[in-house]
This record gives sequence, structure tokens and C-alpha cells, in this order.
Amino acid sequence: MSSLLLEGCRLVVATAGESEISGATIAIHGGWITFVGEGRPPGEFDRIIDASTLVAIPGLVNTHHHLYQTLTRGFPESRGQKLFQWLRSLYPIWAGLDEDMIRASTMTGLAELLLSGCTTSADHLYVFPPGSDRFFDAQVEAAREIRMRFHPTRGSMDLGESQGGLPPDDVVESLENILSDSQRVIEKYHDPEPGSMLRVGLAPCSPFSATRELMSQTAALARESGVRLHTHIAETTDEDAFSRNAYGLSPVAFLNQVGWIQDDVWLAHCVHPDNSDIDLLASRRTCVAHCPTSNMLLGSGLAPTPALLAAGVPVGLGVDGSASNDGNDLRNETKQAVLSARIRDGAEAMSSRQALRMATLGGAECLGRKDIGILAPNKTADIALFDAEALEYAGGQEDLVGAIVLGAGRPRHVIVNGDFLVENWRLVRSDPAKIASEHNRQARRLFELKGWA
Ligand code: ZN
Repeated sequence: MSSLLLEGCRLVVATAGESEISGATIAIHGGWITFVGEGRPPGEFDRIIDASTLVAIPGLVNTHHHLYQTLTRGFPESRGQKLFQWLRSLYPIWAGLDEDMIRASTMTGLAELLLSGCTTSADHLYVFPPGSDRFFDAQVEAAREIRMRFHPTRGSMDLGESQGGLPPDDVVESLENILSDSQRVIEKYHDPEPGSMLRVGLAPCSPFSATRELMSQTAALARESGVRLHTHIAETTDEDAFSRNAYGLSPVAFLNQVGWIQDDVWLAHCVHPDNSDIDLLASRRTCVAHCPTSNMLLGSGLAPTPALLAAGVPVGLGVDGSASNDGNDLRNETKQAVLSARIRDGAEAMSSRQALRMATLGGAECLGRKDIGILAPNKTADIALFDAEALEYAGGQEDLVGAIVLGAGRPRHVIVNGDFLVENWRLVRSDPAKIASEHNRQARRLFELKGWA
């Protein structure tokens, strides 16, 4: 078991706004934090780092993503379109995905996230065209290669266009197939233990692409298996109209009817909940994955995050897929969360520390984890270290948390499970040039297949 000492950090942000300690030392043994505090703990260490210029924050937690979408990053045909039209432009391309493309895009997205200080990421893969039997496995293999803590969800769609849904029939699956593959991936990969590097979730895509049966049967399977549930909800006013037309209910009320508004569920977006939806989410401790960049890029609206937080809804942050956020930069998403809340509700609506709490503890609650999102003994050794002496923080020394959230810097080092994956602003366990070139090759294949290149 290797050990590491981060000695005398400029600042340790154990929990933003609650526990911030100047000059503290962090000790790590294996994948766990064993000491945070003043002075030096007893014992020998394999590696000792002078951390006097470094600000330690808990590794950021990304709660919503579609990693495969990095293949269609900035796809010109979908620019300037609202969600439904944007999806109609992209579904036919995504129908051409194969296993190598899934692997390459997962590597790219996770590598970028790491460089932004993210140490745990969820993913929501919901496109399973014919030949997709190993998509989920390919994602797991890629995440293991990158060494990030990973929460992949087995997504699904079973409501095709001919049945009144939005996606074309060739990208939806049968209910039977979805449930049997969901069971397979839970049995094969889900690790519920503390310190787990991989936990599986189940995730029908949205009310306009999943049937009522899929929603309720997936919930039953998840609860039987002890895994969490995830979906998109209340993202746009078009979705609200679809739900009222199809089910006579708001999207959140529909989810409640199919048994989803519980504390084992986290919901992407919630841009358009009404007051009774917010009260319901708070009373059941159903979590929300707030994705400000994606909501702004698609013109979906500004989520009422301050109201959600004030009501007691647990809120985490997500970058969302790279077709609606051209970057995988979770640190930047904390800045976007501050800015979007202030545009919506005024200058005092959101502080840097509230945004950082969402990106750490809020994310941990979304993913149902008590062992990440905080720097303390017996928590996982997932840490992002920013250099206070770097150019981008010059002048920001009086409030380094604010400078990190609202500035434009990246972490100098990123540690996951006790291992340095980023050192001196560079990936050290994977080769970004190789990842990018393979990703570009796979994206070209996808476009050629579809006659776009
Ligand atoms: Zn999404």
C-alpha cells in the first residue's frame, strides 16, 4: 500500500464554506485519506509533497454526461436548434455508433474531465442500435484504462416515432432486451462497497422516448438490485407540453406516478419544475443534476437552482454530453452555475462556495455516496490541487475558492484513489495525443458511415 503526504497545503477546502483550513496537511494510505489537519501525522511516507502553494479541494463529481456525444461535438447541422429538433438532427448519426467509437469517446471525455479536476463521473448511454451488445462493456474498459471513478448508467429508449415518441424506430430497443441487459451489467460490474471504482445505475432516457412500462419496470429492477435510477426531466417547455398531452401530468408529476420520486433517484436538468414539483422533490430528497452550460446552449432556460437549494433539494452539477456542451470541463461548470443563477435571480443568488459544494458534496449525494466529495479521514483519496502561485490566480489570493471557481485555471495535480493521474497540469497515466487521434479517427468513421464526410 503506497502512502503520500501533502504537507502544509496553502488551503485545504475540506467542505466549501464550512471547513477550510490554512496550512493543513493531508495524509493518504492506499486509496484513502487517513489524516487532515495541522502538524504532521506519525509514520513514514513513500512520497512527500511540499504543498505550500497548493489549494486542495475534493475531486469534483460529474453527475450527468453522454460521453459518446464527444463524437458529434459541435456538429454544425444541430447548431441553433432547440432540444427536440437538435435530437432529430443527431439521432440518425448516433444510430451508426459502434463499440470502437464508444471506447474512444469515453476515453476522450473522461480524460478531459480529469484535467478539469473531476475524479468521479456518471455517464448516461441510451443509444443501443443493432450490434451494440458490448457498448456498456467498452465504456467500463475505457474508464478502467483512464482510472477514474465511474458511475455508468445503462440507459434506454423504447418509445419510437411510430408509437408517438421522438426517436426514430431504429434507435429504440424492446423492453425485454433493455431489462435483460440491465440485469447483466449490474451482475457483471456493480460494486456497492465503500471506495468502489464502479457503480452501475439504470436510466430510461426521458418521458418522450420511454414508455410508462419501461419507467416502472426499470425502477422495480433497480430497487431489487440496489442500484440508483437516473433520467432527464423538465428540461424544456416542449417536454412539458408533451407530458401534459401524453399523460395529463407535468413531467415531475408523471415521474411520481411511475414511482420515481424517491431518494434513490437523480434527475438531469429540472429547468421547468413548478413550486409543487420543487416541494415534492425536497420532501423525498430526490436529487437534481444541474447542467447550466447545456441548458444555455440549447436555449432550454435557466434552472431555478437557488429555489431548489433553498427548498432542500440535493443538487449536483453535470457537464452533459458534448453535443450540448462542447467541453468536458466540470470546474468551468461551477462558474456557469454561479453565472446562470445570478442572471436568473440576481447578484446574491449563488456564491462560489455554494457552486463548489454542488460540484462535490451535491454530486456525491446524487450518486448515493458518502465516501467522496469531502476531504476527511476515511474518505476516498480523490483530490484536485490548484497552484495558488499560478498566473491565473495572481491577485486573487484573498479568496482562493472564489478565484478557482470564477477564474479560468486548471488544477496542477489530480489524485484519484490515491494515484496521481494529472501532474503539473498534464495527464501522466494516459497519452492525450493518442486519445485525441484515435477519437478523431472514430468520429471520421461515424461521419463517413452516415455520408456526412
Ligand atoms: Zn443529457
